[in-house]
Amino acid sequence: VENGADDGVYTVGIDTTYPPFEFQVGGEYQGIDVELIKAIAENQGFEIQFRPMDFVGIIPALEEGELDLAIAGMSITEERQKVLDFSDPYFDAGLALVTKKDNAEIASLDDLDGKVIAVKSGTTGSKFVGENQEKYGYRVAYFDDSPSMFLDVANGYSQAMVEDYPVIAYAITSRNLDLKVIEERLTGEQYGVAVAKGEHGELLEQINQGLQELKDDGTYKEIVEKYIKN
Ligand code: GLN
Repeated sequence: VENGADDGVYTVGIDTTYPPFEFQVGGEYQGIDVELIKAIAENQGFEIQFRPMDFVGIIPALEEGELDLAIAGMSITEERQKVLDFSDPYFDAGLALVTKKDNAEIASLDDLDGKVIAVKSGTTGSKFVGENQEKYGYRVAYFDDSPSMFLDVANGYSQAMVEDYPVIAYAITSRNLDLKVIEERLTGEQYGVAVAKGEHGELLEQINQGLQELKDDGTYKEIVEKYIKN
């Protein structure tokens, strides 16, 4: 039995709310990440239970063994690879720059001097914004979850935010938010399933194998297209 799954059930960390990757409808978890990891578990014959949490808590929870794995729209980064192992990439994403729909003042990062930009704690967006703060001269407002951040910008408190492109694109279309994307790709990123470093080699192999089989048999495509229409 692998470390952490003594009861034969792997605990899977997901972001509290991150449509189209994870969200709850009537108490049931849905979304691309949720369906994908369920399908992988079924394909590979292991059991899972979901534990939603703020994104910022997920990596520490993996390190402490509170979670066995996480699928949370989590980008594979070199920094994270110091403490985590990732599966093969399963989705292409990247950061978008977003403002309120009627904002005519801000067309790029260059227009953010003295403005407030909203980010979600612990994310690549938060890192990007921190690293570029001096260059662009904005202030940063931190949020624990994406919906609160979206509201802050839609209500005109923060003047801009960064969010993963597929997430904000989905939110704008499906919820008709008063927001617009002004730059689609500040960064290029790829999502991976994460486990604590060096402790879950066998599980990771199963995940990669399951992912490949779901790609080969069309299930992967079906899951993605259920949520993202081209
Ligand atoms: N992809 C981003 C990251 O890995 C955001 C993830 C999220 O907010 N769930 O940091």
